[in-house]
Amino acid sequence: MPSAAELVDALTLEVPDFPQPGILFRDLTPVLADGAALRAVTDRFTDVFDGGFDLVAGIEARGFLLAAAAAYAVGAGVLAVRKAGKLPPATLTEHYELEYGSAALEIRQEALQPGTRVLVLDDVLATGGTVEATCALLERAGAVVAGVGVVLELAGLGGRDRLTGRRVEAIRVV
Ligand code: AMP
Repeated sequence: MPSAAELVDALTLEVPDFPQPGILFRDLTPVLADGAALRAVTDRFTDVFDGGFDLVAGIEARGFLLAAAAAYAVGAGVLAVRKAGKLPPATLTEHYELEYGSAALEIRQEALQPGTRVLVLDDVLATGGTVEATCALLERAGAVVAGVGVVLELAGLGGRDRLTGRRVEAIRVV
């Protein structure tokens, strides 16, 4: 049976110059659309962080799908970390820089009980700004970041360096 990393390799699409010239976009939607791959990826996250989290945070939008699958597998809940402007007040907001542009992420101010251990999931770790902002949001809300799981890490962009001291699991590093 192929490993999670082999399935990610086989199914990820590389799209040059999207969403702007010079960016090689890694489209992981075929990984999510494949039952065996979705299960392999989800199992990897729940195995690695086994028992260490109470809630799974998914980063908009592909992170939502990973978070829901992982949370369901272990009977945990999910927290949607939304792009700015989608949630009603009161929200906590973090602004950050992307590989292509800037953005902001939000959660509801009262979304978390203090001390809740949260596993953060997203599809791609690039510069690390998105995950860093998410961790900052969760910690401002009183949560503890139990770990970070990504399907694909783009090592050349240094995202892991911005997450020093955090437990980061990448299924595939390129
Ligand atoms: P970053 O904050 O730079 O680590 O960017 C990570 C976020 O942007 C993730 O939510 C990804 O979905 C998306 N992203 C950034 N760069 C890429 C890329 N080259 N291919 C696919 N998604 C990307």
